[in-house]
Amino acid sequence: MPGCGVLGLCQYETNKLVRIQSVRLGSLKWSLNGFILLFICIMMLWNRKYQEFDLVVSSVTTKVKGVAQTHMLGVGDVVWDAVDYSGPSQDRNSFFVVTNVIVTEKQKQGKCPEVPLKGRLCRTDKDCEKGDWDQWSHGIQTGSCVKFDVLKKTCEVSAWCPIETKTNPPRPALLAAAENFTVLIKNNIRFPAFNFIRRNILPQMNDAYLRSCQRGNDSLCPIFRLGDIVREAGEKFSEMAVEGGVIGIQIKWDCNLDRLMQRCLPKYSFRRLDEKESNKTLYPGLNFRYAKYNTVNGVEERTLYKAFGIRFEVMVFGQAGRFSFIQLIIYIGSTLSYYALTTMLIDWLIGTSCYSAEVGQNYFQRKVESVQDKQKCILCVSYVDEDNLRLVKRSQKKSLQDVKPTSVEPRTDDAGHLRAVLCLLQPGVGVGRDAQPPLDNKPDPNHKPRRPAWCKCERCGPSSLPQEELCCRRSGGACITSSPLFEQLVLRRSLLEAVLLYQDPLSPPADQGQTAALRHCAYRQYISWRFGVPPNDTHPAIPSCCVWRVREAYPSPDGQYSGFRPARMASMKACANGEL
Ligand code: ZN
Ligand code: ZN
Repeated sequence: MPGCGVLGLCQYETNKLVRIQSVRLGSLKWSLNGFILLFICIMMLWNRKYQEFDLVVSSVTTKVKGVAQTHMLGVGDVVWDAVDYSGPSQDRNSFFVVTNVIVTEKQKQGKCPEVPLKGRLCRTDKDCEKGDWDQWSHGIQTGSCVKFDVLKKTCEVSAWCPIETKTNPPRPALLAAAENFTVLIKNNIRFPAFNFIRRNILPQMNDAYLRSCQRGNDSLCPIFRLGDIVREAGEKFSEMAVEGGVIGIQIKWDCNLDRLMQRCLPKYSFRRLDEKESNKTLYPGLNFRYAKYNTVNGVEERTLYKAFGIRFEVMVFGQAGRFSFIQLIIYIGSTLSYYALTTMLIDWLIGTSCYSAEVGQNYFQRKVESVQDKQKCILCVSYVDEDNLRLVKRSQKKSLQDVKPTSVEPRTDDAGHLRAVLCLLQPGVGVGRDAQPPLDNKPDPNHKPRRPAWCKCERCGPSSLPQEELCCRRSGGACITSSPLFEQLVLRRSLLEAVLLYQDPLSPPADQGQTAALRHCAYRQYISWRFGVPPNDTHPAIPSCCVWRVREAYPSPDGQYSGFRPARMASMKACANGEL
């Protein structure tokens, strides 16, 4: 390349395009491009690709309200209000509601028989070790084996007595009425990037609205009935209340902060977070113990509660978007590559049988320009008994006549040449010095001592170079040099001189020293006649019989000829210069 080094900086390369004039392909292209544009626009508006986004930062507080009355064995009717059923502690972003309870009353520090858990019984004091305990124990063993009930004996322990004996929660749940409790969720959010603040209790919600709103007919109401929450999570409250569980309350904020389409409202959804199949799951539900202490006659007593309940976890997530010119540019840039699909599809269509093979071949030839590597010298061969031109790879071993063609191409006539030649052939034109050398029978020292095997026309001469071993015919028959047109078009001196003069109008008249120029001109005449315009990047090969005939007519004084040397040729002008 000439553009090496610094010169390379002063160059710009761009793609060469092929424009196919076709109504079908044109309308297909615009339809596809229109479809792609539509798709891009829909995706942009749907996903708000023109916006920059920020994630939500939030805080949540809750307030549960409701009262329920239960009847407990040995205690009687007990009223539970928010303080009782909310459990002892409140976590961040969650609240707890007791739905079921096992109460063990009046526990005091003392000694009592251990509960026979997992069949752990004893017969004598030897079975019990003083000071022993494990993770199932309610206290520390004293070393005695005592009666638990009429049938069983268990080790005595120092513990809070009496020990809690019930293991399974009551069914139905004691506080199943918690279904009707309500919770007010207050959620403050902020989008730091846009400095935007909002609450789920919207500005237009007043006290009267909050007292009366219901989730059933207003999805924005921030007050929820617990039964509704559990139902929307796909669970049954009365079932879930027995062993407890965890429910997630999801608040999703998907905000559009553009001025024209501003919208920023919460969306609530609910789902169960723990495993729900209690008969298959080990340790199902949710429970914990707490106690209330009091002193009776100077002795400390406690009431132990094993509370089962539902923990509601409030999860807030979401994002806000606002128009950003940079995001829009980035999105547009990222979609440009989709238009390549049109080219790919149409190129593929042209290649398939959707088009006639002829049209497809034509498009393909115009679209793809084949360039040969320097090593691969493609020769162009024309036989007088064949219409088409053959393209043949040059071989160093096989004679050119025997090499198989790589492709066959139709002949393209050189219209200008044809016209000029026909004009010169008019009677009376350029007849002045028609000193064509006579075809005498003088034996030529170079002339064919014997006919080579590859020759079909009987007039070729032997050669030491395989690329020169070419006959004018594919099959046996008359030689092209025997045609009167060969004399007229290739050999006639007046014609060759006229052509030379045409190319160089001020050249002196041809004399003896110019036989080389006349010979080369004769080769050119032959190529124009037989090949027309040879296909690009190919080198026309002249049959041996013609070469010998031209040499015979315009011999070199010293009997030396350069022979066939195919060189890279761009045009017919360069074709015969200094060759053969
Ligand atoms: Zn021959
Ligand atoms: Zn021949």
